[in-house]
Amino acid sequence: MIYLDNNATTRLDDAALEAMLPFLKEEYGNASSLQHKLGRQANQAIERARQFIADTLQVQSKEIFFTSGSTEVINTVLRGVFDRYQSKGNHIITCQTEHKAVLTTCRDLEKKGAKVTYLPVDRNGIVALEDLKSAITAQTILVCLMSANNETGILHPIKEITELCREKDVIFFCDSTQSLGKQAFDLTTLPIDLCCLSAHKFHGPKGAGVLFIRRKTKPIQIAPLHTGGDQEQGLRGGTYNVPAIVGMGEAIRLTQKVDFSAIENLRNHLEDRILTEIEDTFVNGKQEHRISNTSNITIKYVRASQLMTKIPNIAIASGSACVSGSRDPSHVLKAMGHTDEDAFCSIRISLSRYTTLAEIDHAIALIKPAIQSIRDQSPIWKMYKNGLLG
Ligand code: PLP
Repeated sequence: MIYLDNNATTRLDDAALEAMLPFLKEEYGNASSLQHKLGRQANQAIERARQFIADTLQVQSKEIFFTSGSTEVINTVLRGVFDRYQSKGNHIITCQTEHKAVLTTCRDLEKKGAKVTYLPVDRNGIVALEDLKSAITAQTILVCLMSANNETGILHPIKEITELCREKDVIFFCDSTQSLGKQAFDLTTLPIDLCCLSAHKFHGPKGAGVLFIRRKTKPIQIAPLHTGGDQEQGLRGGTYNVPAIVGMGEAIRLTQKVDFSAIENLRNHLEDRILTEIEDTFVNGKQEHRISNTSNITIKYVRASQLMTKIPNIAIASGSACVSGSRDPSHVLKAMGHTDEDAFCSIRISLSRYTTLAEIDHAIALIKPAIQSIRDQSPIWKMYKNGLLG
């Protein structure tokens, strides 16, 4: 199997697994049971992980909150800020190309009285700062925009967005799920208020994530999504998933050593080969700033679903993993102005630091004949080649 679907999830790093194992076996204490040694050891382990995470992001450990992953953080932030800031306003700004966790939660909040602006993007998937600026009103309580898009890898101008939100005194939540381990992500130079991580996106285990809340003179208020015990400063009740948190701490440490340019060189090699060796293909957002590991490629008149059945030993995606059961075209590509047909004929290839040149070349050697055979049997492709289609 050649695994090229690292934006969906990544393989668990060996060092993260090793760090987790004792906490799945003999070190099974509840990290909140501080009366005995097993509990205290579990507590020390999660606090060590918290410190690793804080050091990597260059923030304070008190600003790190453990969760089950980004979907939970997104729900906590959108719902929790809406709950606490209703006296200020009910307006939330997001973008049409955000992850479904954001869009679905916003739709739900609209039913509860929120007014949500879904900013458009241009053909290259970028949101315009001017649009954001004119959308902010006195009622705006939150701006929620992702750093890297999970389907295309396209990067929003986060630094400028952060500055604008500061200037307008609006809380900025950045869905940074796809950033860590693929680009420099330093919260000292990027004064984002809130952001999220999912450990399984950077070779950590599934079921652990982080909510970062910047400590400010005027503290950011968020109502808890899970009420229960007073874990996580009362923001997230529930017994700690100690092994997963420990694995996440180890995995995040390892992201500090990643050579982003090596991943990007491999990605560029892949794109160059596909664009030159397979006719009528284009990379979505090729000219734009993109995260190092992601390519979203349209292959004219070759449905992604058809292609994937022809190459069962290569893991690629037709879009986001969470909507892979959907029959709808990608909302991200649609927002960028693509036709349904082109959206259905687009694949996402996402690399990791474990991907090798040999794997990429092998994948292309399998993908090329698969595309050829689909096109050979396609009347639409023949019509297109004969100039009968646009
Ligand atoms: N946000 C982005 C940009 C993502 O890519 C994902 C996962 O694909 C999520 C949020 C949700 O993350 P999780 O499924 O780990 O909760």
